[in-house]
Amino acid sequence: MRGRFPPSSRVRGLEYAIREIAALARELEEKGRKVIYLNIGDPLRYGFSPPPILRRALAEAVEEGYNFYAPSEGLEEFRQAIAERERRANGVRMDADDVIVTQGVSEAINFIMAAMLEEGDEVLLPSPCYPVYVNYVRLYGGIPRFYKITPEEGEWRIRLENSSISPKTKIVVIINPHNPTGALISREEVASLIDVARKVGACIISDEIYDRIVFEGNFYSTAVLSDDVPVIGLNGFSKSYMVTGWRIGYMYFSDPGGRLAEVKEAIVKLARNRLSAPTPAQRALTKVIRSGEGFIEDLKREFRRRRDLLISLLREVDGVELTAPRATFYAYPRLTVRGDWGDDLGFAKKLLIEEGVAVVHGAGFYDYRRDRFRLVFLPPPEVLSEAVDKIRVFIKRHALQAQ
Ligand code: PLP
Repeated sequence: MRGRFPPSSRVRGLEYAIREIAALARELEEKGRKVIYLNIGDPLRYGFSPPPILRRALAEAVEEGYNFYAPSEGLEEFRQAIAERERRANGVRMDADDVIVTQGVSEAINFIMAAMLEEGDEVLLPSPCYPVYVNYVRLYGGIPRFYKITPEEGEWRIRLENSSISPKTKIVVIINPHNPTGALISREEVASLIDVARKVGACIISDEIYDRIVFEGNFYSTAVLSDDVPVIGLNGFSKSYMVTGWRIGYMYFSDPGGRLAEVKEAIVKLARNRLSAPTPAQRALTKVIRSGEGFIEDLKREFRRRRDLLISLLREVDGVELTAPRATFYAYPRLTVRGDWGDDLGFAKKLLIEEGVAVVHGAGFYDYRRDRFRLVFLPPPEVLSEAVDKIRVFIKRHALQAQ
């Protein structure tokens, strides 16, 4: 007889550190402790809400009868609106047939890795990296390799070592703007990653979910910069439309040579197995995309105000160095002093237990330097001030020596 049911070896190594820190925070809250959450990449948890026009459109969609399973690739009108949006905002040459609607960008990442990877295939990823990429690569038998996103002269820059690329590199992943650093990848750097992909015959996945949340500099969509290397662009509505819980994202194929045609077919088959992404949300988003995205400007203004505040607050903290985020709602400081907290995980845990401030340690993003952490600048100004004050006091109390 079978005894216990152990999880499959495939999933045993999976981690999702962002949520693991949240579990510890909840435990403390249940014991009556106050926790300031700086670990969650969800504007809705900080008082932001979807624009009224979108909330109304969702109610209307339900009343109009958009409650059925949509086609697995997405509602036709929605795919058209997405193509219009990508053409208008980013200059991508594409149409509705290139789009597959997914249950968030998360599902798109899952589908692509499932449809593309064979055992031992290598995927070149940024380090630090949004952890879901590493997890899905491993789940489907792939091997993650990394290029670095690292501070140089006050800006985030890409650094790639030749040893990370090989003829086995099948996919190059670009996350632009980048989570967790808040980096905006420059035109030249996107071009250099396209060159790398061309050299080894890889395709590119370009995650552009933060493309609307850019404070300084210009955003360049990878698909626009690549003439020949096939690109799968990923984007979604979770962040800039503030509908994280609606679970709507999309992928589009920018693939003039048709090299990904079979992969696209395979992904459509995978999508059929889960039937559909939420239909009312697709209908509502179609209307709002077409009415313009003016509300994003207001949102960005507010994010920017909070980012500026965080930068100025962290400048006053001894033992922390921050390379300014040019986009997203994340900051990724480095600890410049050693402390009795040990490594980055020790820092995050001890800070949470002693000061009630939740951040995510860099290793949660597969950053092996072990001296960094991520925080969001989504809370209101007074909460951000209180949190940074607690971080300052904590570092002062536990720092061992200057490095
Ligand atoms: N890609 C990146 C870079 C992200 O930071 C996130 C969420 O934090 C996602 C994808 C997931 O987005 P979605 O809500 O569309 O699944």
